[in-house]
Amino acid sequence: MKFLVTGGAGFIGSALIRFLINETDHEVLNLDKLTYAGHLESLAPIADNPRYRFVHGDICDVELVNGVTASFKPDRIMHLAAESHVDRSVEAPGEFIQTNIIGTFNLLNAARSFAGDDKKADFLFHHVSTDEVYGTLGAEGFFTEETLGAEGFFTEETPYQPNSPYSASKAASDHLVRAWGETYGLPVVVTNCSNNYGHYQFPEKLIPLMIMNAINGRELPVYGDGQNIRDWLHVDDHARALYLVATSGQPGETYNIGGNNEKTNLDVVNTICELLEERQLPGQNHNYKELIRYVTDRPGHDFRYAIDTSKIQRELGWQPEETFESGLAKTIDWYLENQAWCESVSGGYNQERLGLKSGKT
Ligand code: NAD
Repeated sequence: MKFLVTGGAGFIGSALIRFLINETDHEVLNLDKLTYAGHLESLAPIADNPRYRFVHGDICDVELVNGVTASFKPDRIMHLAAESHVDRSVEAPGEFIQTNIIGTFNLLNAARSFAGDDKKADFLFHHVSTDEVYGTLGAEGFFTEETLGAEGFFTEETPYQPNSPYSASKAASDHLVRAWGETYGLPVVVTNCSNNYGHYQFPEKLIPLMIMNAINGRELPVYGDGQNIRDWLHVDDHARALYLVATSGQPGETYNIGGNNEKTNLDVVNTICELLEERQLPGQNHNYKELIRYVTDRPGHDFRYAIDTSKIQRELGWQPEETFESGLAKTIDWYLENQAWCESVSGGYNQERLGLKSGKT
């Protein structure tokens, strides 16, 4: 089959393409704008494979999107291209509206023109989305102990209640995807996944940021009191789940994907410090916890995300293989061995604090 993957030079997209090339015999075309978050270095292990091709382009460019889809005629569009960092969305939401909403609209229209209303047999448009569209669990959120219970989980039926410009833009694009399925007969599927971690993640996200700051003796900024809870999934487990959904998922359905690994942010940072300490890196002060600093919380910071994954487990037989402990240890070792990758992708990023509502629109 032919897979068009958008955003394939990003963190999850590159894991998905490495999986598709290494573990299957499908053809892959990667359409990516190469923003600050997209790096072809992440695809170096498969770049020379004859089943892989790259097109440098913007999903907001209608002509380009129409041209690429019409000439490649994919059997699957796996749409991952997005602006993905919540702090950046607080600072400058405009780019999120363009890429995440308008870009998705362009891809849906392009797909509709050759695959809507049963024009192409066995076609599927797979939108890769986030659990953040559901809002927040517990504490002061909409889903309080009265509505979902203190231990409640997001299910595929949970109503959308996005709180950040990022999650609102992803919710909008999820709705567009659903509507193109209902209105234009486009076979679509949506996955909503919890926080990913693993190798090749841009060092602005919590786990790589803490690893890189710690080994460089920089402060470890923890938002608020560090008690916000995220459900962590290793990116390779996510890539496997995405492939299963794209090949065996039912059109019109949504599948939630999560790691069943709820941790407070402070627990994550403390564990990274402990794992680094165990490694006794030469020339370092091994008491990394001394670097922890509590900083002003993110505006509208969702308290807890947690996913009920029973549907994808029951219907597609997926479950995560990596435990958080083994996955985090492997991730730390990867970053220690791949500091050159971090430096080459970091470019203008200086670990500056983003998202305190001081930015542009
Ligand atoms: P990322 O920021 O690492 O990568 C995004 C990729 O999209 C980059 O390669 C970038 O160059 C590309 N891109 C951005 N704008 C583009 C445009 N206009 N045209 C073409 N390409 C463009 O993101 P990620 O963490 O890999 O996330 C991938 C997808 O998965 C996103 O849709 C995100 O919402 C979703 N998701 C992410 C997580 C997570 O924890 N990272 C969790 C759930 C869902």
